[in-house]
Amino acid sequence: MREIGVTAPSPLVQLHDERLDGLGISLHLKRDDLIHRDLRGNKWRKLRPNLEAARRQGHTRLLTFGGAFSNHLAATAAAGRLYGFDTVGVVRGEEHRPLNDVLTGVVRHGMTLTYLDRASYRRKADPNVISGLRKRFGDFYLIPEGGSNALAVQGCTEISREIGSGFDIICCPCGTGGTLAGIAAGLTPHQRAIGFSVLKGGDFLAGEVRRLQSEAFGFMRGNWSVESEFHFGGFAKRAAALDDFIADFRQRHSLDLDWVYVAKMMYGIFSLACRGSFPDGSRLVAVVTG
Ligand SMILES: *Cc1c(COP(=O)(O)O)cnc(C)c1O
Repeated sequence: MREIGVTAPSPLVQLHDERLDGLGISLHLKRDDLIHRDLRGNKWRKLRPNLEAARRQGHTRLLTFGGAFSNHLAATAAAGRLYGFDTVGVVRGEEHRPLNDVLTGVVRHGMTLTYLDRASYRRKADPNVISGLRKRFGDFYLIPEGGSNALAVQGCTEISREIGSGFDIICCPCGTGGTLAGIAAGLTPHQRAIGFSVLKGGDFLAGEVRRLQSEAFGFMRGNWSVESEFHFGGFAKRAAALDDFIADFRQRHSLDLDWVYVAKMMYGIFSLACRGSFPDGSRLVAVVTG
């Protein structure tokens, strides 16, 4: 496929932070946020193999689902624009005017929006709902909500492959668990992966990772775990301690952490490091997913 403005493999850079140096821990950042301006990080990793499949199957239209603030909707719209697909976004709930920034952005990328009330939205995988959408919009390549399917998980194995075997622990934020499932599958035998849930009650994620891995590979792969304590109240919720951490990180490293996902992972990494959860000499990588 034609790739416009894509930086891959993404840079892997060491973060020098005296708090970690003092604990004998090294931390590198895998800067997937630099892959593309509009189609960042793990969204590019997850969508790209799906776009290839859509093209192979002769599709010209993508359809997917998301909430009104979904990064995945934004990424799908950008991907359609970049790679030449029409896109339809099915948004949960009612239409609100004026559109918020995310939805304004997707419309600018040419995405057609439609809305499903919450009850129908819950049944969005139902064949009747899908065939109704096909009647309205014509044939399409279906990408699930959040973008995590077998191909997406396979795409994320590249993250670990690019990082290579010179590290012990690879960390990522978790929304649906697709990125963690892929990273874990790409590890070498002495490595492990930790996913940091950005949702409250993230213990369900372990089951999702197992399900996605068996869909993608037919069996479980890699040594991985989910940390479910660093959600700060739930998805897209923030707290003063998180805001302070982000401001302090910006001062120290001139890097603005995405607060919905990346900052919660980073806060979790520093907290676990302070508690002595990582053996002395551990070489960590944090995947900056967006
Ligand atoms: C969507 C997103 C995630 C979540 O990835 P999953 O594969 O759904 O777990 C993590 N980080 C960023 C920046 C995202 O936009």
